[in-house]
Amino acid sequence: MQNRVIPVEFEELKSSGTLPSPAGVGIKILEITRTDEFSADDMGQAIMSDSSLTGRVLELANSADRAGQEPITTVSAAIMRLGATTVRNLALAFSVISERDNGACNGFNYPLYWSGSLARAVAAKSLSVHVGGVSSEEAYVAGLLAEVGVLALATVHSEPYAKVLLETRGQPMSAVLAAENTAFDIDHSTVGYCMMLDWGLPDSFASAVESFNLERLSPAGDVTLDTLSDLLRFADAISSAMLLTATTPPRRINEVGEQIERLQEVLGYSDADVARLVGQIAGEWSRWGERLDIATCDVSFESIKEAIRRGREAFKKEVSLQTGGGIRCESVVADNIVTTEDVVEDARGLVAEKIKVLAVDDDPVALRLLVTVLRKQGFDVSFAKNGAEAMRISMREGPDLIVADQEMPEMSGLELTRALRRSKRGASMYIVLLTGAQEEDLLVEAFESGVDDYVQKPFDARHLMARLRAGMRIVGLQRRIEEDRRTILRQLADKNNFNRKLKMLSLTDLLTEVPNRRHAMERVESEWKSSVRSGSQFAVLMVDIDRFKAVNDTYGHDVGDVVLKSTAQAISGTLRGENQVARLGGEEFLIIARGANAEDARVLGERVRLVVEENVVEAEGFRDGVTISIGVASFDQGFVGISEMMKAADDAVYQAKTLGRNQVRSAREDPQEADGLLARRKSA
Ligand code: GH3
Ligand code: MG
Ligand code: MG
Ligand code: MG
Repeated sequence: MQNRVIPVEFEELKSSGTLPSPAGVGIKILEITRTDEFSADDMGQAIMSDSSLTGRVLELANSADRAGQEPITTVSAAIMRLGATTVRNLALAFSVISERDNGACNGFNYPLYWSGSLARAVAAKSLSVHVGGVSSEEAYVAGLLAEVGVLALATVHSEPYAKVLLETRGQPMSAVLAAENTAFDIDHSTVGYCMMLDWGLPDSFASAVESFNLERLSPAGDVTLDTLSDLLRFADAISSAMLLTATTPPRRINEVGEQIERLQEVLGYSDADVARLVGQIAGEWSRWGERLDIATCDVSFESIKEAIRRGREAFKKEVSLQTGGGIRCESVVADNIVTTEDVVEDARGLVAEKIKVLAVDDDPVALRLLVTVLRKQGFDVSFAKNGAEAMRISMREGPDLIVADQEMPEMSGLELTRALRRSKRGASMYIVLLTGAQEEDLLVEAFESGVDDYVQKPFDARHLMARLRAGMRIVGLQRRIEEDRRTILRQLADKNNFNRKLKMLSLTDLLTEVPNRRHAMERVESEWKSSVRSGSQFAVLMVDIDRFKAVNDTYGHDVGDVVLKSTAQAISGTLRGENQVARLGGEEFLIIARGANAEDARVLGERVRLVVEENVVEAEGFRDGVTISIGVASFDQGFVGISEMMKAADDAVYQAKTLGRNQVRSAREDPQEADGLLARRKSA
């Protein structure tokens, strides 16, 4: 099967260099598995080089719904049981999570996004037993990545996307997609699809996720549970229900309620069955949340039902009052997760941004002292009691400065520094090490490991502050650089947009608004090349309006123009997928049909001919249709080159005209003649 053409808008997003992507081992896995014939061994080795990744893959392979099978203890056994592709997709999904960042988009609630994605993944995994041909691991990955397109837009277009989110709050998903298209010429469903293809996930998988994003616009009424995308829809309803907040719009709550009812119907579940299912999903959600450091909350089906009931009441009131979003739903399930509004508020407060400092010491008394000193200086202080905790907090909160004790059990200050320097976020943090008096020898090693400065314990507050001021200057510089980088990226994106619009204009016919001759010929050339390379098919259909001169002569040139435009739009409207119509000039058009052999093209031509015949054009004094004659030439007819193919299509139009017009004619109606041509091309 042919993949869709990746739109240029996606290439632009990608060129920003900030799209969420797998990191570390994930990148290695991507490289190893670029082609279909990758070595499962090499991939297994790569996964095993990262122990936490290995742990997660094994945990999933051994999770409860595979109970009864021997537990797996090695990556190679996981590959044997689940298949190399599944293990690879799992590893990639986990590595995208591990690279997560609380990005810059003010209107986007990153913690809620990750909580929701994880809940959806776990729910999808639970529901996968009801869908034939979908493994629980595949469902899990699909659930995790289902809305990665949203994350991507929030990351790359942080500011304009915040605006889109604010403007479409409480509105249906269709409004969000439309606003995205207006702002960026691409929407999150397409972005997600392209990203997954880009990571080497199969087209069928990426398409299922895309369908989920598009189909959830439609009411739940008669959704069944047959495909991966149905599965995602119901999993999404469950995860949304687990994450209702005070600011979830009643309209959305109502929708979720309907979907859950529908699910119950489809599965034939009683309330008690659903309660059990939700309980199981919630339990697994919080276990995985702990593992992946993603926030979760305690929910039960009871609390969800109550929240939905109240939300629906508010929704009914809203509808009857027609206030459209004026009433707030009071039910709060996920009140321990920050809501979007909080995040927006926070972002406003950031104007006079505080410097974030993380204090780390295993000695509680020393830690309290350190925290007190730092808070007095007006820093935004968080603290950790050991290296591992410090690492987690650093990844989550991204402190600007870290003051860490060297001597700590398990993970020392130095080890923490090394670990931080290996991560993308940690690379730019300013780290000050607190050393004991006897630890002078350690300093060379400390600086080599990436420590920025040190202060001897017991420290003098003024002394520590002097050191931290140096750090603050560096943090300030880094922030300015980061701002500049964002400005440059934004300008680059604007410039790309502008260039793209210019390019679009130069490739579009102004009268009919379909692609022009130049565009058509570029496309024919690229189709030709790809057919020569991969043996795929394509065909050209030359279209000429019959007796068009008479329209001009009788009704005038302006009416002629309207007829041209209407005919072009009628043709364009019947074409699907990769097929495209262009205006070659005058009253001549070219249809390029990807994947079509001579017979397919003929059928397509016949369909187009009929549509045009039935298309009634209305213009001043004119209410009538025109007919067209079509000449078909296809790659499988064995032409030596593009010009021969185009000429053959042209000749076929001429034949159609002489045979009486309003018909389709193929270039090589005699198959033997085509064979002869094919032989000629091979020897050429
Ligand atoms: P046939 O069935 O043999 O194709 O007859 P025809 O009259 O369609 O063919 P011919 O090539 O003799 O005439 C094409 C006409 O298309 C001539 C020209 O006036 C008209 N034409 C070309 N470009 C435009 C345009 O942009 N607008 C209008 N209104 N007419 C155009
Ligand atoms: Mg200590
Ligand atoms: Mg003509
Ligand atoms: Mg004509």
